[in-house]
Amino acid sequence: MKRWFSRSRQGGEVVSDGASPQEGGPEEVRSEAEWRDRLSPEQYQVLRRKGTEPAFSGRYVHAHDDGMYRCAGCGAELFNSSTKFDSGTGWPSFTEPAIAENVVLTSDRTHLMVRTEVTCRRCGSHLGHVFNDGPAPTGQRYCMNSLSLDLDSSGLDTSPPKS
Ligand SMILES: [Zn+2]
Repeated sequence: MKRWFSRSRQGGEVVSDGASPQEGGPEEVRSEAEWRDRLSPEQYQVLRRKGTEPAFSGRYVHAHDDGMYRCAGCGAELFNSSTKFDSGTGWPSFTEPAIAENVVLTSDRTHLMVRTEVTCRRCGSHLGHVFNDGPAPTGQRYCMNSLSLDLDSSGLDTSPPKS
C-alpha cells in the first residue's frame, strides 16, 4: 500500500537554528542545550549556526594523516583521508564523501551566492559547502570546516591487507 505524503513544503523558508523538526530531518535530534553542552563554542557556531571558521585556522587544513574524518557532532563517517587534497583555500578539502548517503546537499542562497551546503545526514550539523571546481576524477571540492570534523586514525575499514 502506498502512502502519500502530501504535506506541502514551505518554499523559501529557512530554518536557521535547527530547533524545530523538519521533514526528512536528521536521525539524531538534540536540543540546542544538548548541542551547547556537547560542542565547543566555536564548534557550535559552525555546526549548529552554519558558521564558517576563518581560513587557515583549522587543525586539519594541512593534515596529512591517514584516517577517517568523522562528524564532530555525531561520529558519522564522512571523508576518507585518501580523498583529501590541498586546495589552497585554507579549509580541508575533499573530492568526495566516504559514504555518499552520509551527507545531505542542499542549495544555500545566503550571502548573495548560490552554493551547495553540505550537512551530516545523521545529526543535521553543518559541515561546509561543495563546489564544482575540484580536481579529477570527481571535479568536486568538498570545502569543509575543521571544526566539523574529527579525524579517526585508528579504526580504518580500508586498511591495506598485510602481506
Ligand atoms: Zn553528524
